[in-house]
Amino acid sequence: MKIGFTTSFPIEIVYAAGHIPVDLNNVFVTGRANDFIESAEFQGYPRNICSWIKGMYSVARETDIDVVVGVVEGDCSNTHSLMATLADEGIEIIPFSFPFSKDRTLLEREITKLEKHFEVEHSAVIKWKKRLDKIRKKLITLDELTYKENKVTGFENHLWLVNSSDFNGDPDDFERRLDQFLSEAVTREPQKAEFRFALLGVPPIITDLYEYMEEMNCQIVFNEVQRQFSMPHLEENIIDQYLSYTYPYSIFDRLNDIKPELEKRNIDAVLSYSQSFCHLQIDTMIIKKHLDYPVLTVEGDQPGKLDARTKLRIESFLDMLRY
Ligand code: SF4
Repeated sequence: MKIGFTTSFPIEIVYAAGHIPVDLNNVFVTGRANDFIESAEFQGYPRNICSWIKGMYSVARETDIDVVVGVVEGDCSNTHSLMATLADEGIEIIPFSFPFSKDRTLLEREITKLEKHFEVEHSAVIKWKKRLDKIRKKLITLDELTYKENKVTGFENHLWLVNSSDFNGDPDDFERRLDQFLSEAVTREPQKAEFRFALLGVPPIITDLYEYMEEMNCQIVFNEVQRQFSMPHLEENIIDQYLSYTYPYSIFDRLNDIKPELEKRNIDAVLSYSQSFCHLQIDTMIIKKHLDYPVLTVEGDQPGKLDARTKLRIESFLDMLRY
């Protein structure tokens, strides 16, 4: 069965049950994204709801997804209504929660509940965690090739890390392609750029942001949330793994991860990306207040290329960094 999901959650359980996890966001953004949005609006989804929600709704309805796991605490309040509309159309939904309090017992209970739902032994889940951690270690190498050796572009880093949310449904194939990529990337000449950037926030819906930053002689060497999807902490225990994953918790948990990474990666400035109509836009206030770096906010709405206004804002920001 294909198990769709709305944001990263313990996919080890799905693999242990012999099913295929599918990150609905990835199918949406790499597929016929604008058609998916139009189709959701045709069904009655409002104009002023985030594009990712509309995209996930259409992917769940219009592709071969069998069941949807909705992360109803720790991600997006819109997910509640997304789940309701899918359930109303007869699609089986399974709720999963990351407790906002980061309470270990509550998270353990959620994981156990999911194991019971999929009828898997905890030992089988741990076996899958070990299998996936082997690939996650290689993604750490890829990340180091990005910020230490400057041999992997920001876009390549983004693509590999964002796809590690579900390993494209086939970890063996993912690992094979990753091995090939790494063996080619190590032979490259290091890139040189005028400024080193961090990109904070959800993965951008803008298709040419990385390309444009490169054109402007800027290198993105930190993709914050995409890196979180790759579970880089390699904790011994699956509960600790999903407690170290910062995205579902508060902005202060994210900042505890972001601050040392900015320093370690020798960052000059930060792009704080947010999605139109997303509650996370409010967190940008705290990001700006707590980071001692120049921060430019960038907002995306529909899938597509950067608009002229945002390009102009980026150029002005770069001028400001120069003087
Ligand atoms: S971008 Fe924001 S509003 Fe959209 S799905 Fe993600 S958390 Fe929800």
